Amino acid sequence: CGIVGVLGQHEAAPILVEALKRLEYRGYDSAGIATVNSGALGRRRAVGKLVNLSDLLVHDPLPGKSGIGHTRWATHGAPSVNNAHPHKAGPVAVVHNGIVENYRELRAELAEHGIGFETETDTETVALMTEHFLKSGLSPIEAAFKTIDRLQGAFALAFLFDGQDDLIVAARKGSPLAIGHGDSEMFVGSDAIALAPLTNKITYLEEGDRAVLTRTSLEIRNEAGELANREMRKIKLDH
Ligand code: GLU
Repeated sequence: CGIVGVLGQHEAAPILVEALKRLEYRGYDSAGIATVNSGALGRRRAVGKLVNLSDLLVHDPLPGKSGIGHTRWATHGAPSVNNAHPHKAGPVAVVHNGIVENYRELRAELAEHGIGFETETDTETVALMTEHFLKSGLSPIEAAFKTIDRLQGAFALAFLFDGQDDLIVAARKGSPLAIGHGDSEMFVGSDAIALAPLTNKITYLEEGDRAVLTRTSLEIRNEAGELANREMRKIKLDH
């Protein structure tokens, strides 16, 4: 339902939770964040209001200056901690808005490789397929792109990788996604309003776009894999 991401200069967890709060109006049943800290990927998730996630983070902090966050409105699988995003498979964490329509087919394919499932969500297949491609020797960007190529339906996605504290891969198809440009910081949000306190410099992804973010660069490719030029706008938000 709501996606945020940050490659920042400060602790990511409070920034992610604050950004998710700005998307609360959309409704959600659970929330979670993942960060990379000294290369290590970790996550925290909680059912119910964002305050539950904040409380969890007080007792069990999640350091790191890179991260992704999500508020979930369950479509596949009951609202539960286990089904909450980010979904993690080995070295990759994924947040997802929308529906992966062909997830049953992807599950069957993964099962043929002996891969098992821990959740009832369509999203888990995205994390598992990316992990599978990583194991086959692809780089994080290649593995994410190859997975995105396989997805049908309406989605916005953000990927975070173990060992990569300056990388987020994002994609948009049928569900909006905005990239925010900071000062040696880069952000992503399913709605620019989530990023309002962080930056007003926004690049909107277009249908089928996939983006590679670092703190100092943004590379966007269209669905055909060609480099795409998307304009950066200075937007006005009254918040
Ligand atoms: N289909 C995904 C799920 O049920 C994402 C739902 C959403 O957009 O929050 O977990």
